Amino acid sequence: MKLYNHFINGEWVEPAKNKYFDTENPYTGEVWAKVARGCEKDADQAVKAAKAAFDSGAWADMRPTQRGKLLVRLAEIIEREAERLANLEVRDNGKLITEMSAQTKYLAEWYRYFGGLADKIEGAVLPADRPGIFNYTRYEPLGVIGMITAWNSPLLLLAWKLAPALAAGNTAIIKPSEFTSASSLEFMELVNEAGFPKGVVNCITGFGIEIGAAMVEHPDVAKIAFTGSDFAGQKIYETAAKKIMPVTLELGGKSPNIVFEDADFEAAVMGAISGIFAATGQTCIAGSRLLVQRTIHDKFVKRLVKVASEAKIGDPMSVETHVGPVTTAPQYDKILQYIKVAEEDGATCVLGGKPYTGDGVQGDRFVEPTIFTGVNNNMRIAQEEVFGPILSVIPFDTEEDAIQIGNDIVFGLAAGVWTSDLGRAFRMSEKLKAGTVWVNTYRAVSFMTPFGGYKRSGQGRESGQESIKEFMQVKSVWIAQQTTSSNPFIMQ
Ligand code: NAD
Repeated sequence: MKLYNHFINGEWVEPAKNKYFDTENPYTGEVWAKVARGCEKDADQAVKAAKAAFDSGAWADMRPTQRGKLLVRLAEIIEREAERLANLEVRDNGKLITEMSAQTKYLAEWYRYFGGLADKIEGAVLPADRPGIFNYTRYEPLGVIGMITAWNSPLLLLAWKLAPALAAGNTAIIKPSEFTSASSLEFMELVNEAGFPKGVVNCITGFGIEIGAAMVEHPDVAKIAFTGSDFAGQKIYETAAKKIMPVTLELGGKSPNIVFEDADFEAAVMGAISGIFAATGQTCIAGSRLLVQRTIHDKFVKRLVKVASEAKIGDPMSVETHVGPVTTAPQYDKILQYIKVAEEDGATCVLGGKPYTGDGVQGDRFVEPTIFTGVNNNMRIAQEEVFGPILSVIPFDTEEDAIQIGNDIVFGLAAGVWTSDLGRAFRMSEKLKAGTVWVNTYRAVSFMTPFGGYKRSGQGRESGQESIKEFMQVKSVWIAQQTTSSNPFIMQ
């Protein structure tokens, strides 16, 4: 059995209380490793290491070009190790190998992109409005950044935070989800090999309300970059408010995927499937509310049910599999609970609706791809994030209806629009209140493109050039070219 310790100051460190918890393979249910269960003391040790590394200037004062080179070197190592990392993610979180292989290769791009950006952060010389003054701005790192990630895509969510934060000159403490800590810990070996100075990147593990909360509360943590539920996000935001600490919050969603009668029918069906059944629906950007124009509703649902019913459920390591297991036991229970809620609220289940126990699956963590019709947008199944393979189909009549229903939700992470009318594509993109709008595609993300939520889906943006500024603060500098003795009792 593998045993994982914390990674602090470039060393593997045993947890202060010598406690460990199990991590299991969601497909087989087998416990395959033990992970350090950290406490406040471990969080403090990691913060001290990250702060010392920041204060020493070993990283923040390194020439930005050199910092960038180290990030690019890390990108190369990631590419070399991508297959191993993909296998590890599948083992620990049950996502499909087909998706994880592509994702682990692609995540190198975040480190390459932000490595390239490290020496392109420019302040400005300002046109001073008084004589004899040289006025300029400079961007500076914040200090120690705490990075907390969810279980559904640990290394990708980490790349979105770690690459820009390091490029900006900060030091980092990573706290992955207690359900999927292994890949972030193994990633530390790659960081070590790339040659980052000790203490620049640290990884501590354990439960959110134990070591996670202790890290957030720590006075020497300058910012938290968080991905997870809106519930935990709110708690972190409350603590941050007490410290006056900046945060980025990447939270949940209940995204509308909207199909108009003029859409490419087959492409829209595939887009609806990819929106909800990819990754077993365990994605923040799931298009879990499918809005279909009433004129094509019945035909569309019929085709959707046919395609979804043919999805192969099973071993995430098989390239033939379309839908894998649910990652965690609590999540599995939650999904089944929401199926009950939908039925009690009067939605009609036209596909699935129960655990999958068919041929070729191990363990007991499978839910059938499930489709509900007759859903009203006020129902809980339409308003609350399930984070599983459960689709709610909601009919609409006009473009205005689609916008009204699409926006009638506390979340605003993403939205999809399927249409062949260019004008409508622009109008819908403008009116939908979501951080990302996809037209005639779904579930695309890139290192170049800002990602984040409106409303209860979050705060701040990850990826894209601007996101590096989320990890920096601007300083204004005034230099008098010669000293004068003007009246000291009035503003200069
Ligand atoms: P979660 O909120 O339960 O946990 C997320 C992380 O926060 C874990 O590491 C956990 O240990 C930690 N945590 C929990 N409470 C904490 C606290 N009080 N203080 C400090 N840390 C704490 O979420 P989850 O179940 O792991 O992930 C699923 C959620 O994440 C869904 O809502 C999903 O939509 C969201 N998500 C959002 C994005 C995005 O980019 N917007 C991406 C992936 C997942």
